[in-house]
Amino acid sequence: MIVQFGYVVLLIACVSVRCEQDEKPKTHVAIIGAGIGGTSAGYWLKHYLNDSVAITIYESGQAGGRLKTVNIDGNEYEAGGSIIHDKNLYMKRFTDELGLKRLNVPSSMSYLTTNDGSHTLFSTLSRFIPDIFLILWRYGFDAVRLKFWLGNKLTNFVRIYDYQDNGRTFQTVDEFLQMLDQDFSKSTQTSFRKYLNEKGFGKLFIDELAQMAALVNYDQSVDSMNAFPGLVSLMAAGSTLWHVKGGNYLVPKQLLDRLLKQSDVQYVNGRVKSIAEVHRKDADDQGGNVRLSYQPANSELVHAVDYDYVIVAFPLHRDNRNDFVIQTTDLFNQYDYRMQLTHASFLSGKLNCQIYNLTTRECQRLNAIFYTNPSLPYRSVSQLQTVNDAKGKLQKTVYKVFSPEKLSTTDYKRIFEDDDKFQLLEDIPWLAYPKYDYPQKVPPIEINSNTFYVNAMEWSASCMEIEAISARNVAMLITKKLGVPLKRSDKHVEF
Ligand SMILES: Cc1cc2nc3c(=O)[nH]c(=O)nc-3n(C[C@H](O)[C@H](O)[C@H](O)COP(=O)(O)OP(=O)(O)OC[C@H]3O[C@@H](n4cnc5c(N)ncnc54)[C@H](O)[C@@H]3O)c2cc1C
Repeated sequence: MIVQFGYVVLLIACVSVRCEQDEKPKTHVAIIGAGIGGTSAGYWLKHYLNDSVAITIYESGQAGGRLKTVNIDGNEYEAGGSIIHDKNLYMKRFTDELGLKRLNVPSSMSYLTTNDGSHTLFSTLSRFIPDIFLILWRYGFDAVRLKFWLGNKLTNFVRIYDYQDNGRTFQTVDEFLQMLDQDFSKSTQTSFRKYLNEKGFGKLFIDELAQMAALVNYDQSVDSMNAFPGLVSLMAAGSTLWHVKGGNYLVPKQLLDRLLKQSDVQYVNGRVKSIAEVHRKDADDQGGNVRLSYQPANSELVHAVDYDYVIVAFPLHRDNRNDFVIQTTDLFNQYDYRMQLTHASFLSGKLNCQIYNLTTRECQRLNAIFYTNPSLPYRSVSQLQTVNDAKGKLQKTVYKVFSPEKLSTTDYKRIFEDDDKFQLLEDIPWLAYPKYDYPQKVPPIEINSNTFYVNAMEWSASCMEIEAISARNVAMLITKKLGVPLKRSDKHVEF
């Protein structure tokens, strides 16, 4: 492969920025990844540093990353990150500032849970008894406690907004967890089952409700993952949830569009291959601190550009350690980190209700099936709503199936009625979220003094809001390093 250093680019940067006597030199920052993490890092950098920062955003795929919709018969359906909690104030802030619309996810859904894929453990299919009574009947006091206990945990979590508005940063993932709630930090050291057990929750609640939340949100069980992502999964239960009209990917996409209209922001469609610290011979040598090598899309050439700071805004793990190399640091070994493979497959067809002995009416009302046994090949099946305004009548009912592996026709035949000829419309294999463990090992946020890692925070729990919180923290850390006072937020975030 031909390696060509981008001297021309460097020269232009020098001529236009660093060598002008009468203008303050700009800080050059590269952001790798244009998902919600990278684009919100750009948003906060401009918020704090304004015209004194020049940003280049590198993206090897599409802006949005793990936020993406699929188009089926002219209608859009969420394929990646789909629901947002009502208390996720940064996602709300971005959505509102960009003039996008928030749509509430319908609060009631008829579902059943099964442990073996053929017998119902619990269902909300009754037409006469409200869900809340059914839940109380089965899970008793645990269901009531959950609401108050989680409410308390959520109150502690949302302190982050006040802290960040007041300029508080954190250097490590654990510092973030500790400053919100000591118990968040402790929860990463133990299995989700043991943690809930110690909090006094019963076996039935853990085996069914907690297991369902863990499997459907992170494709991992109460026994295999630590309790913090478990807590985040439970927070979605019984809360107001929403999504962005048109698709959640519109937030990073439009944040990027808006950034590109500001001065000194560039977008490069290409893959960053490596970053390396630059060791300058003397203090007068004014080049950047990190050399970034990238390959533009549709090109064999590799270019190199120096930056003052680099923000890595995608997950680093054993499967991409050969595609992206961080040279000259031994702080961090990508090999230690793994991602969970999760297939999201989209199908049309009719659910096989016979195996659950459902009446025709019950079957018509059934929106979702959750499988609580982690050794089954599937996690959940849910009837999808479009994220756009469906034009005219929908052609077919579309279901999304989550599974840890690619499913076979035989697997699908256990979910859908065979004679109705279900149709597999799309199958997306995602490296979806970190594979959680306990005690949880977490990567550094500051990889070295000039390189920051937004997705380190994903190893606490992966969701859009945590990426946005992490991005703001990284932007604040860089601002502090530059000695620039942190502008207080305009506080239009609500609590
Ligand atoms: C199936 C699924 C369901 C989910 N459900 C939810 C949910 O309901 N609610 C929720 O809040 N979250 C959910 N999540 C998690 C959420 O989507 C992620 O936490 C979030 O989108 C991650 O954003 P990010 O910007 O950090 O990373 P990404 O979205 O992964 O963005 C990283 C970007 O970097 C680019 N990139 C990678 N390597 C390079 C390179 N070498 N050079 C240049 N560019 C590169 C990638 O192309 C990508 O666009 C879900 C995720 C999945 C997959």
